[in-house]
Amino acid sequence: MTITLPQVMGDLLPTGAPPQWRVAVDRAAQLLAPRWPTGPVERAPLGVFASLALILYALHRTQSQEPAAVPMSALRDVLDGDLDANDEPVTIKTLIVEGLSAAGHRVHDAEPVMCRAAARVLHQDAPLVVTTPFGAVDVPIGMGGAVPGPSELRSAAAWLKRMLGALDEDTIAALAPAPQPAGPVNVMVIGQVLIISDDSEALVQCAECQQDERGQLAVDGDQVTYTCAQGHISAQRQLGSGHVRQAIARTQADDGVSGPLYVADARLPADADPATLHPVRAACL
Ligand SMILES: [Zn+2]
Repeated sequence: MTITLPQVMGDLLPTGAPPQWRVAVDRAAQLLAPRWPTGPVERAPLGVFASLALILYALHRTQSQEPAAVPMSALRDVLDGDLDANDEPVTIKTLIVEGLSAAGHRVHDAEPVMCRAAARVLHQDAPLVVTTPFGAVDVPIGMGGAVPGPSELRSAAAWLKRMLGALDEDTIAALAPAPQPAGPVNVMVIGQVLIISDDSEALVQCAECQQDERGQLAVDGDQVTYTCAQGHISAQRQLGSGHVRQAIARTQADDGVSGPLYVADARLPADADPATLHPVRAACL
């Protein structure tokens, strides 16, 4: 299942997201819509959409340009900016950090959503990267990862430069409006919720009473919560919002998931299919 623009937009727009961030997300979607990969083979690099939204937001904060009206020349200047010795786009990194700072935020702040998005794409404590059938995947420190690997921003910036570098103002003026972002999702899961990677599985449980069945799974922007049958609500930081959206979409259930729900591990691309990940589990899916 492909990752659609409305899904990546929805992942960046929790309820209460700041209005100027919404405008930046909308504008990023508008610019990328004609180029967004729709097939199963070609895929956009991880974090590419968030990176563009962060650049537009940062240009707004640092250069007082409305996110919806950033001229192509300003965007191109940023995309053509400097790389460091590891090919990390330092000009863009600095811009994003300064943009958040101009709005009174820091990368890694828990709120608002832009800070969490920036922490993900900048990966300032970037862990080791291994190559899997789904592409490069980070290994967290403590699970074998120790050497900083490339940030998501590195490949995202190179892709954006290729995709947007040749755009002119006339083409931009003729772009269709952005699609509607995916809204919050809230479903009852009768069975357990399992997080599947290619070599492990983990269970989602209530943090208070450890119940793991007949819970309510909710996604709002990039935040995932699990409400157990007793009504305890726990944040589920190990679950990727896009991964949960994909898992629910895969069941094609509108009003609830009757059995267990298999969600791909957050370190994998959001559209990784658990059925192809876990050989033992695959037989039961
Ligand atoms: Zn509970």
